[in-house]
Amino acid sequence: MPLAENDTVTTIGEGGRRVWLYPLKVWGRFVTARTLFGWFLFAALLVAPWIDVGGHPAMMFDIPHRRFYLWGLTLFATDANYLLFLFGSFIFSVFLFTALLGRVWCGWACPQTVFLEGIIRPIEQLIEGKPSQRKKLDNAPWTVGKVWKKGLKLTAFLVVAGAISTTVVAYFIGREGIFEAQADPFSHPAATSIFIVLTAVLMFDFTWFREQVCIVACPYGRFQSVLMDADSLTIAYDAERGEPRGKARDPSAGDCVDCKKCVQVCPTGIDIRKGVQMECINCTACIDACDSIMDKLGRERGLVRYTSENALAGGKLRLLRPRVVLYAIVLVAIGTGFATALTLRQPVEIAMTRPPGDPFVVRPDGQLQNMMRLRIANKTDAPRRFTATVVSPADGTLHAPIADMRVAPQQVGQFPVLLIRPSAEARATKFVIRVDGDDGYTDTVDAVFLAPPPSSDGKAGSDEGR
Ligand code: SF4
Ligand code: SF4
Repeated sequence: MPLAENDTVTTIGEGGRRVWLYPLKVWGRFVTARTLFGWFLFAALLVAPWIDVGGHPAMMFDIPHRRFYLWGLTLFATDANYLLFLFGSFIFSVFLFTALLGRVWCGWACPQTVFLEGIIRPIEQLIEGKPSQRKKLDNAPWTVGKVWKKGLKLTAFLVVAGAISTTVVAYFIGREGIFEAQADPFSHPAATSIFIVLTAVLMFDFTWFREQVCIVACPYGRFQSVLMDADSLTIAYDAERGEPRGKARDPSAGDCVDCKKCVQVCPTGIDIRKGVQMECINCTACIDACDSIMDKLGRERGLVRYTSENALAGGKLRLLRPRVVLYAIVLVAIGTGFATALTLRQPVEIAMTRPPGDPFVVRPDGQLQNMMRLRIANKTDAPRRFTATVVSPADGTLHAPIADMRVAPQQVGQFPVLLIRPSAEARATKFVIRVDGDDGYTDTVDAVFLAPPPSSDGKAGSDEGR
């Protein structure tokens, strides 16, 4: 049974053959705004690892040292709660913006669209010309001119892919690491491998896979239908106004003159006039294309426009719906929680941990001893010195083999400490330790003090703990 028109993928031809697209570049208010926004995002992505904010890279995920730098904010591995806030914000932003604005992410912010539509296709057009010229070149036999153009284009793509890969790797090993890896690729084998693989993947995408990422590979395109409803904003053709298609001078025809410009500019090769389709990445090109035709005809813009299914069916454009309000409330709650957590964030964090080994030792003098480890995270940008003293119990003492506990800026120090009670009669109890910093910082931390189980005569055992 032949497939209905909308059941076929436009880029798959006879026998599964790939149909290559040659979208026409169009300019208009939406494409211009989208291009500027895409360049802003691209610049932010490229620049972030290379500039400093607060003495650190603006963005860096320093996995070996378990620290993340986010535009002046330094997060340690123990700050996973902040990452949860960020992750939650991202998820609910996707929910909110998709329910409200449909596939706005795909058209305006997705790296695939930003790279392909904002950089790669313009480079291609610059070197190989308009769609008809590009198609002719692809079908032409190999000549010196064709080799030159294709070689130049591949070189330009490689420069872009290399710049993106270098930047992505710099997010993890920093700019110094990148310089070292460039001078000696074997000095950072993992980073070098990621750079090579990522560059290869990007080249595969730029040179061949292209719109197939959106059409067949990206899960978000399928996921969006769950998040959207008939009131979500989408790009659609106003069939009521446009049909029946016909010549501009035909008074019985609708506003669509069947010029197919909206189809020619579509980077996924679809015809928006067939209705909302999964392949549509809401890139806005068809809006600007159709508006340019309407302008020439002296007709009102918006035959293809941002609207909603319900609005097209004669209803109202209803952006504020219960689910949108709910997502917005959750997002505001997450944002408020994040801001509060940041405000309450301590510049120094302390924790007491128990290293592996004997939980307690009965010393020759009869005193009971627990070996512990005091962990101090200095989240400030200055070196700090700390001292530790016992608050309780009254008969407890603390001995720090490294009395002068210094922690460098943005570093975590681990210091062995001995907690001692005078008698092996002691039962398990809690030590409260006060930690004072040279900058006036003071806080307490608890440590469970372990003791041997009582012997049958009610006295504590005297052997080393196991
Ligand atoms: S139908 Fe329009 S908005 Fe959708 S991908 Fe094609 S050109 Fe972009
Ligand atoms: S660009 Fe506008 S007028 Fe031309 S075919 Fe598309 S919808 Fe019709």
